[in-house]
Amino acid sequence: MLVAALRGAQRRIATAAADDVARATCLAAVDVLAASGAIVHAPDGDDLVVRAVVGGHGATVGSRLPREGSLAGRVLATGRGETCRDALADDRTDAVRNARIGVRSSVLVPLRGATGEVVAVLAAVSASEAAFGDTDLDLLALVADLAGARLTHALAVAQGQRTLDRLAESEEDFRAAFDHAPTGMTMLGLTGASRGRLVRVNTAMCRLLGRSTEELVGTTLPDWTHTDDVAADEARLERLLAGHERVISYDKRYRHSSGRTVRCWVTSAVVSDDAGRPLHLVSHAIDVTARLEAEGELHRLAHSDVLTGLANRALLSERIAAGLQQRRGDADRLALLLLDLDRFKLVNDTLGHHVGDELLVEVAARLLSVARGGSTVARLGGDEFVLLVEQVTGADDALAVAARVAAALREPVVLGSGDTVTCTSSIGIALSEPGLSAEDLYRHADLALYRAKDAGRDRAALFDDELRARAVSRLDREGRLRRALTDGSLRVEHQPLVDVLTGLVVGHEALVRFPDPEGALTLPTDVIEVAEGTGLVTTLDAQLLERAVADLAGTSTGLLAVNVSGRSLADGGYAARVAEVTRRYGVDPARLLVEVTEHSLLEVRSAVTDSLAELAALGVRTGIDDFGTGYSALAYLRRFRLDFLKIDRSFVTRLGRSARDDAVVRAIVDLAHAHDLTVTAEGVETPLQLDRLRAMGCDRVQGYLMGRPSSLLGPVGPGSERGVAERVQPTG
Ligand code: C2E
Ligand code: CA
Ligand code: CA
Repeated sequence: MLVAALRGAQRRIATAAADDVARATCLAAVDVLAASGAIVHAPDGDDLVVRAVVGGHGATVGSRLPREGSLAGRVLATGRGETCRDALADDRTDAVRNARIGVRSSVLVPLRGATGEVVAVLAAVSASEAAFGDTDLDLLALVADLAGARLTHALAVAQGQRTLDRLAESEEDFRAAFDHAPTGMTMLGLTGASRGRLVRVNTAMCRLLGRSTEELVGTTLPDWTHTDDVAADEARLERLLAGHERVISYDKRYRHSSGRTVRCWVTSAVVSDDAGRPLHLVSHAIDVTARLEAEGELHRLAHSDVLTGLANRALLSERIAAGLQQRRGDADRLALLLLDLDRFKLVNDTLGHHVGDELLVEVAARLLSVARGGSTVARLGGDEFVLLVEQVTGADDALAVAARVAAALREPVVLGSGDTVTCTSSIGIALSEPGLSAEDLYRHADLALYRAKDAGRDRAALFDDELRARAVSRLDREGRLRRALTDGSLRVEHQPLVDVLTGLVVGHEALVRFPDPEGALTLPTDVIEVAEGTGLVTTLDAQLLERAVADLAGTSTGLLAVNVSGRSLADGGYAARVAEVTRRYGVDPARLLVEVTEHSLLEVRSAVTDSLAELAALGVRTGIDDFGTGYSALAYLRRFRLDFLKIDRSFVTRLGRSARDDAVVRAIVDLAHAHDLTVTAEGVETPLQLDRLRAMGCDRVQGYLMGRPSSLLGPVGPGSERGVAERVQPTG
């Protein structure tokens, strides 16, 4: 009788422990990766069974899928993690199922048991494409590793269960299994005089508590439970005895004989007799002290900015979402202050990164000191900070907070080196409104920040009706861009690129044009800004590349320059596309120039470097556009192995105004040549500018003087538009 009851309890413990572990693991995965959901798959015959699910997608516990043809099955078989960028286009996984449960991208890692064998697969999922990167794979592996301790416990419990099943049905056999279990086990008596006293304990538990069997048997829970956990323990026992629950898992702290706290993951079940009277409380405990500490650290890492210790983007998003959810009246609003240090990049570049870091840490401290209670201070990366303020009464209140912040930051910072730097800030402010999402609030603050910077920095700007109107127009532009990208109405204009020495047209630059509602062609700057912001720029660049190469195929000689956003390069695949398109049209890749703005390269991303190297390997020439506007040093640009640079129009326009203005351009030309880069000057409008550039040894010129962008791809080389050659001849 007793054995049967014990087995029943043991079986319940085994299932509950395993399910709890699976669920806790999913929660940790969602938390650490900021994923929209997580799933644990366990093998069952030829199938996989969903053991736990967290998040709003359509997977359900207990549903099955074949191991074959699923990524989870693959991870189970190989023991290696996998990332799926687009489940609808990845033939390693079932697109139909993924579409049904609303999973578009995922990252999967194995969950391992005590001896390292793969026992299940943990997946973090998202409804959007390419939501996870390489670091997410590493983070998830860490989560899986931490889950290992609990998993070991669950497995040990299940193992104990199996041992019991296999053994003859005798009480001695149960005792043997109990005594030799690898996890700590205790049995409390629940009847008569033994009530609440320890009647049996195994060696693993003795080790965990640092006491012998003799010392332990006959004692009660409070004798070896952490004082703060005694009440919770008693409440749990009440619940179990009242029959509300038959088995429960929980975190609990024990007291080791040395006085040290041992944190355990415990599963308990009541063993009852046939009449349902409780006889014993059997508990399994596993020491997870080290793991929990690591988990805490991981949680901290996942939610804070490493440099400053402030909240990071993930935590901020949670706080904004939570803040917006509270019902607020007109005089209780949430204010988001988005803050950017003016010219921080200059400090970083001239004084070095360690000084930049020192400054950021100091800024963080000052923000914390002026933030009022209940505010969240976050760093989003670089020199971008956020102050999220609760209970703001209105615009004036928010502006007052901004003024305090600005004043605190304006105080000079004395660096460790003894040097002093002074740093002002630009602040964009947005207030919550009914129906606003967290993204909206952030976008509003971002638009306001733009305005603050535009107005000359060192000031705060509020998102208001004017900006709202601009946001609407932005949406309108986005709509037009999307339409143009799908209906093929994009147009291209070409502007001649002229060799300074020969005066001959050596090629053209392709510039995109958008048809506007009246059928006229719109210049791209506004639209490109929208494209960059929405990620549509990748599609735009791909379409332009296709056009450009098709145009080149129609002419026999000459170069064609295309503009490419750093985003297209960072996404990877651009070089492969160039290779494919040039092959398809039979065009020599060496006729292609790829222009990337200096701004896009400031954030050195290895993916960009890789793309540039791949393009170089194809024979494509790469260069920096708008050079001089992004404060980058030439030496720093050298690591990109570029072929040319284009001096920004703003420098060309100032030529001839002062000796100093000329000297800047001359320095750029000389330095570029010292680094074997070809120099192009853009925006050349006057013969005087051209003369100066020629005298400085500039290689190529482009501008209205030589030719405006036009829908015609003009001829190149000798015989090219005579007008051009004439205009390029030295004057006077
Ligand atoms: P950009 O690459 O610096 O292109 C030069 C811009 O200066 C063009 O403006 C051109 O029309 C204009 N320009 C040329 N010569 C002169 C001159 O003598 N005086 C003056 N005042 N302006 C001159 P546009 O066509 O409006 O292009 C603006 C920017 O849009 C481009 O600047 C480029 O960064 C971006 N862009 C254009 N096409 C594409 C594209 O296909 N992909 C990407 N990612 N960006 C593009
Ligand atoms: Ca360009
Ligand atoms: Ca340019």
